[in-house]
Amino acid sequence: MPFCTQCGNPVTGYDQFCWRCGRRQPGTTAPPRGQDPLAGVSARTASVLSYIPGIGWIACIIWLASDRFRQNRTVRFHAFQGLYLFVAWLMNAWVVRPIFAFSPHLEIDKLVHLALIIMAIFMMIKASHDEAYSLPLFGELAQRSVAEG
Ligand SMILES: [Zn+2]
Repeated sequence: MPFCTQCGNPVTGYDQFCWRCGRRQPGTTAPPRGQDPLAGVSARTASVLSYIPGIGWIACIIWLASDRFRQNRTVRFHAFQGLYLFVAWLMNAWVVRPIFAFSPHLEIDKLVHLALIIMAIFMMIKASHDEAYSLPLFGELAQRSVAEG
């Protein structure tokens, strides 16, 4: 591991600047191609991960922000659709559940929750077969988002 020419702080061969003192490092090179941390993630894997109930939204945000999938409309579609499912899940937990909390015979929030989980699992299966299935409402929103992006 090389060291900063000014302060001796350890730096990598790819650091253009020392992160401690800010000195420009001589002889740095651009990271070689293939260093993309997402290089090993296939489009199909990325699509499936977008729908994992509860945590898929993190994957969605990573795919949408990544260079790797910037041009991949299928992955972007799944990422947007997964995000919109997550938003619906949040709305259900924050808005619908409190409304029905005092009426034990109307468990609408639980039905919605179940429906969203089923849709997410359904989409994981579809995505694993390379099908960009468009859910009602969520799919339309996702397609619009892909077109705008
Ligand atoms: Zn330094």
